[in-house]
Amino acid sequence: MDVPDRRFETLSVTHGEHGSTRSDVAEDVVVPIHLSSTYAVDGLNPDADLESLDPDAGEYLYSRLSNPTRNALEHRLAAMEGGEHGMAFASGTAAVVSTITAVVRPGDHVVAFEDLYGGTKTMLSRLFEDRLNVSVTLVDARDPDAVADAVRPETTLLWMETPTNPLMRLCDVEAMADVAHDNGAVLGVDNTFVSPYFQRPLDLGADVVVHSTTKYLNGHSDSVGGAVVTDDTDLAGEIRFLQQVGMGNVLSPFDAYMVLRGTKTLPLRMQRHQENATAIAEYLEDHDRVREVRYPGLDSHPQHDLARRQMSGYGGVLTFELDADLDGVEQFLGALREFPLAVSLGGVESLVEHPATMTHSPLSQAERDRLGISDSLLRMSVGVEHVDDLLADLERGFEALSAAETTASTAD
Ligand SMILES: *Cc1c(COP(=O)(O)O)cnc(C)c1O
Repeated sequence: MDVPDRRFETLSVTHGEHGSTRSDVAEDVVVPIHLSSTYAVDGLNPDADLESLDPDAGEYLYSRLSNPTRNALEHRLAAMEGGEHGMAFASGTAAVVSTITAVVRPGDHVVAFEDLYGGTKTMLSRLFEDRLNVSVTLVDARDPDAVADAVRPETTLLWMETPTNPLMRLCDVEAMADVAHDNGAVLGVDNTFVSPYFQRPLDLGADVVVHSTTKYLNGHSDSVGGAVVTDDTDLAGEIRFLQQVGMGNVLSPFDAYMVLRGTKTLPLRMQRHQENATAIAEYLEDHDRVREVRYPGLDSHPQHDLARRQMSGYGGVLTFELDADLDGVEQFLGALREFPLAVSLGGVESLVEHPATMTHSPLSQAERDRLGISDSLLRMSVGVEHVDDLLADLERGFEALSAAETTASTAD
């Protein structure tokens, strides 16, 4: 495969695909969905080494080990994150668990951002702490000193997300890399929230990057998948072993095709997500029924300077606090037509989500209070629709909120 010296917008359309499959039938411009689970080989090869089959040289044996459609996607994912090795998994969760398992051993210690994706937090406690004797310290990683203070001699992994979900807090990836490397630990960053189009953690010093491709990379809310990219060949070997043999967590050929297709429009989509999210964040910030808007692109975001430094854009997810109680939140949500109430994010269609009762309901009330996830907090994944339709919809929500309050006060 040629060295990816082209620009992001070009890589995301063609890298990994052109000339990647020689077919007897036709020179496909788009990689076909190779469904075959097994491949005929030329003859007996006593020297064959299953661990070092080279798909780029046409060495395919069995589809769990390597598959031409998945291989094309893995090259593209690596190129988009600016890394050497790409791997595609059956889910973002599979990408996360394989990466953490590749790094930590029983007795090791992990330091992670306290405002992590809920599933990853549960994985760290119920799988790694409870079953595998790995200890985990969750810290407010907005403060690099807090992270450095949490590191112990047996710390082998720092696990970060930026921005976080749902509070849109950032950590300084360069500072995290310094802390990790000063202590001989690996820095892993989950880059799902803004995609490699807006943020490239490997360029900032991270050792390994993971994604839920379910979100922006696929971008159409119709495929579940995950990705890992790293420059570290030894680490890639360990993660690949877990992907193919240790856990068998590979992305299916059909989903690999879906993500290849999705990435072609990633730059176009991200630009529109960001334009729409910015307009909505500004509208909400001016609204007297909104207490607070959290979007890294706003001047009012407490870490806006860091956002400008390490991101080239701010994505399509924002969080805001309605000036209303849970009943008011229900009135507001019930009036929306363009924002279905649904978890997940990163698709072309807008969604709204209520963290306290949906994504973050597994947390205790005390933990939600401590983090700042109140009953009036809403998270939006802003899609690529016409922004005026989205703004008009929010207006409907606010009107329903006032109407319900007027009715309630007349009834008193
Ligand atoms: C969705 C998500 C995951 C989990 O990915 P799945 O594809 O649902 O397994 C991990 N991290 C972040 C930040 C996510 O948003």
